[in-house]
Amino acid sequence: MDYSTIVDVFDAMEATTKRTELTDLIVRLLKSTPRELIDKVVYLMLGRLRPEYEGIELGIADKMALRALAISSGLDMKRVEELYVKTGDIGDAAEEALSRRLQSVLFKDKLTVERVYSTLEKIAMLKGEGSQDAKIRYICNLLNDAEPREGKYILKIITSRLRLGVADYTILDALALAFTESKENREILERAYNLTSDLGLVARTIALDGLDAVKAIRIELFRPIRPMLAERVSSAEEALERMGGRCAAEYKLDGERLQIHKHGNNVKIFSRRLEDITSHYPDAINAIITCIKVDVIVEGEAVAINQDTQEYLPFQELMHRRRKYGIEEAMREYPIALHLFDTLYINGNECIDLPYVERRRMLEGLVKSSSDSIVSVVPMLIVSDAKSMEDYMFKAINEGCEGLMIKDLKSPYRAGARGYAWIKLKREYRSELADTLDLVIVGAFHGRGRRVGRYGALLLASYNREDDTFYTVCKVGTGFTDEELERFYSMLNPYMIKHRHARVNSKLDADVWFEPRIVIEVIASEITLSPLHTCAMNAIREGNGLALRFPKFTGRVRDDKSAEDATSVDEIISMYRRQLKVTRQVQASTEEDVGSVG
Ligand code: ATP
Repeated sequence: MDYSTIVDVFDAMEATTKRTELTDLIVRLLKSTPRELIDKVVYLMLGRLRPEYEGIELGIADKMALRALAISSGLDMKRVEELYVKTGDIGDAAEEALSRRLQSVLFKDKLTVERVYSTLEKIAMLKGEGSQDAKIRYICNLLNDAEPREGKYILKIITSRLRLGVADYTILDALALAFTESKENREILERAYNLTSDLGLVARTIALDGLDAVKAIRIELFRPIRPMLAERVSSAEEALERMGGRCAAEYKLDGERLQIHKHGNNVKIFSRRLEDITSHYPDAINAIITCIKVDVIVEGEAVAINQDTQEYLPFQELMHRRRKYGIEEAMREYPIALHLFDTLYINGNECIDLPYVERRRMLEGLVKSSSDSIVSVVPMLIVSDAKSMEDYMFKAINEGCEGLMIKDLKSPYRAGARGYAWIKLKREYRSELADTLDLVIVGAFHGRGRRVGRYGALLLASYNREDDTFYTVCKVGTGFTDEELERFYSMLNPYMIKHRHARVNSKLDADVWFEPRIVIEVIASEITLSPLHTCAMNAIREGNGLALRFPKFTGRVRDDKSAEDATSVDEIISMYRRQLKVTRQVQASTEEDVGSVG
């Protein structure tokens, strides 16, 4: 397959500001791709070579990429660097440099997708001494045969700057349309994706073996499963009602979610975002090997603890483990407890379709924990009245938990889905919204006064899965320290794009636009109707959307979340409705009080 075919589509994808056009472009590309190449084209479109959980990074530094560009174009390094500064984009710099190529290469071989992919694979595999020169040689080898536009995307991919911004769900839609002619079948593809976390694998299976083969895809050890997620409510009564009057209440710990895969003494740990974080938790691995004797996939929450008092510590303490070196010290200084809350696979058998009670019983049977082990099954109580649920929540909060996770006794494990089979119940903050929101940065406004040269405010958006679009919900400018503002500047830089992203719906015109990637946590005083923001536009009142009042950054960048994991438009609508209900209740009770005094 000619590499220029996918370059044409990438160009069109980058230029469009229409979400539906993005899907059409992908469908056309998939249809024109030879079937045995489908997975590779899908990975390349995502700017990767393999599924994300394998952690294979091309990770070429700008400097090295520019050096290769200088060699291939025949321009000197200074000139190439100037082009980079002038265009502000490494891909554009490559296109320009290659179009000014001094010596014209007479016998160019046309680049194929196969060749580009296999060369990139070689680059990713090179490690250690001497690898730098070899990498440059490989890059030059591609650039020498590349047309300027082809070079643009080679440089974008190797420096991890391909910003096509396609969501996994858009690709699933496109796969359904391209290979089954019907969007209806997306559900079947989505199930397979949720069990494998590998879009390339799903694409290859549907393209080569058809829909029945996709249906037959099963969970496998060491291939992460997309996590089941919870909805929120603000009262025990509401939670109980949703659960049909009887449910499980588990402690909700504030730590890091771990998905642990164990085969004999071989253990791998995946994060909430399904990155391989095995190296962060040698202590958890030893403990798991000691107390679980069979092959399993289990999930749990790791929490930092004070070893003297056994109290839980805030989740930030776990961040000390996110390091390459010195993990032994971090383990000693910041010990953890690991509370398991689910089991998805035992000895070759999937458990996800079993009801919660069954899985919980199996989990309890699996863990042979001694009193000094850091592993245990999370505390749980079956409740059938709101008072017991509340009492249990206060007990949990007193012990340092965030609140409770309420679980439907009959529900299977719904991989990759957020629903009311799990409900989070946290302490209610009277003066503020009951919970924080995780929102995506889609734009920014230049700072003034003390903030000149940095961003003064960020434009934040919520996510709507149905149309795969981000809708703005507030501008946030408070809660940032000076250092954080600096950090945001450099953190957002790689995601800067020239126009509003095709998947962003905004009435405000930001000074700078970003690809929706970075998620931050904010707290606000309330949700109000607003004609300026597009979140839930017309859903509550004609001509109005919903916006956050007095939003404030909590200091937490949610790097464990992808943009599509952000608080959804539906969640914001239900938070708004709950807030109305609470306000009415408060008003009614104040009126009663006033009445009784009068
Ligand atoms: P979410 O993961 O739902 O998108 P979030 O990351 O903001 O949201 P929360 O809203 O606080 O987290 O709640 C869900 C998370 O709670 C889970 O992903 C898991 O890490 C954690 N958790 C703690 N205790 C439990 C438990 N007993 N059962 C399930 N999850 C738990």
